[in-house]
Amino acid sequence: MPGRTTTVDIDPAEVERQIVAETCAKRARIDDLRETGRQFHEQGWSLGTSSNYSVVVEKDPLELLLTASGKDKGRLTQHDFVRVDGSGVRIDHPDDGFAASNKPSAETLLHVALAELPDVGAVLHTHSVWGTLLSDHYFESGGLEIADFEMLKGLEGITTHETKIWVPIFDNTQDIATLADDLRARLNDPRQPIEHGFLIRKHGLYAWGRDLAAARRHIEIFEFLFECVGRTEFGQTN
Ligand SMILES: [Zn+2]
Repeated sequence: MPGRTTTVDIDPAEVERQIVAETCAKRARIDDLRETGRQFHEQGWSLGTSSNYSVVVEKDPLELLLTASGKDKGRLTQHDFVRVDGSGVRIDHPDDGFAASNKPSAETLLHVALAELPDVGAVLHTHSVWGTLLSDHYFESGGLEIADFEMLKGLEGITTHETKIWVPIFDNTQDIATLADDLRARLNDPRQPIEHGFLIRKHGLYAWGRDLAAARRHIEIFEFLFECVGRTEFGQTN
């Protein structure tokens, strides 16, 4: 009704509870990402400050919690992160407490492109030896096929080893904005949409999942399969 105002009761205790709950949830997400970094570093998949990891905090409008550029993934602290929006630009919430000098990873726009997909809650990127070697070896073929391994069943939606997946390989570039556009087009390609993960030539793997646990599982499955394919291809099965 024109001219009429409505009073909404705000319970200060409830507001306080919500703030505490959000802070706890953020801390838990960060601790899970730190644990991921420790494990991936130990495996040799995230050495020398390489790699980057993100989780979706809000879907609409999009907000990601992302590792800051140049941090040692084996020793991530609570402060080695940034929050970014759907354009990959850093934003800060009042209680974030991340250093002003923290910069989003150079590859943030790839995380954003993947996080735009409806079922993606986390994106992980590794620089393993086998991923790097295979991404060069199979580059001219546009990707590599992986077939018939029992471990394929660790990828979302796969229920039998009697299957094959295609892992596309993009050329490496420092022009991440263009690569993100190419990726978006391929993710939405009705002929052969990218599922589960892709490689960048002489660079590394991107994989994702509905949450961080699923994304971690996908990275572990891919890295296992890459080693199997690589050892077979390069005659190192002994
Ligand atoms: Zn990278």
